[in-house]
Amino acid sequence: MSGKLLSISNLTVSFDGFKAINNLNFTMNEGELRVVIGPNGAGKTTFMDCITGKTKPTEGIVTFKGKDLRPYAEHDIARMGIGRKFQTPRVFLKLTPRENLELSCIRQKNVFGSLFGQTTQPERRTVGGLLETIGLDHKADMPAELLSHGEKQRLEIGMLVAQSPDLLLVDEPVAGLTDEETEKVGDLLLALAESHSIIVIEHDMEFVRQIAKQVTVLHQGSVLFEGNMDQVQSDPQVIEVYLGK
Ligand code: ADP
Repeated sequence: MSGKLLSISNLTVSFDGFKAINNLNFTMNEGELRVVIGPNGAGKTTFMDCITGKTKPTEGIVTFKGKDLRPYAEHDIARMGIGRKFQTPRVFLKLTPRENLELSCIRQKNVFGSLFGQTTQPERRTVGGLLETIGLDHKADMPAELLSHGEKQRLEIGMLVAQSPDLLLVDEPVAGLTDEETEKVGDLLLALAESHSIIVIEHDMEFVRQIAKQVTVLHQGSVLFEGNMDQVQSDPQVIEVYLGK
């Protein structure tokens, strides 16, 4: 895969005059796995919000697959192929992992399908494959409320993939997870990165090291540094504002 997928140019977002994002530039090609880090308040959430259309730029442009996203509402942008997973898992606890994934597949088809729809055989095959990919095939038919926090995170990542987005946005997927669960989420994202374009926001530096080839460091609403993990961890400015604390 190749070609520019996402391009953010001179993005500024002001809240009552305060610049949460300040002249930020970011580009990513199809098939890349990118990790965005930065101290609290650096603008990571606002950055994601601008990609999904939840927040509109005060200045600057976000372009996805060559299309200027500014005129589009959040639901239109989701339909264009940008899927987001928030920090807290939002799975249906009374449904099984299989049912959660089936629902996501159907929802991707149409909104009425999610209420009245039935899965087709190819969709059931997709769900079967996804259950394996997320490592929940052995727990496919138990209520999701019985899953661990890490398993719920992996299920929700699977639900996102079931909707076939062209870009996956994943917000702090390992917050509060054990080391073992963290590694499993990392392995899952690496496996998905073989066929998907993904942006991850994360704080856990061990985890970032596990998954990241290219890291973007945000600080005060701008890109402070971009590079591989070794370059990031040895950059004096990054150490001063983020790592050295
Ligand atoms: P991060 O996710 O890196 O912690 P955020 O994007 O949440 O950073 O926030 C960046 C800055 O913008 C913070 O100082 C935050 O208080 C401010 N901010 C975010 N959203 C709003 C808002 N809706 N109104 C006012 N200030 C906001």
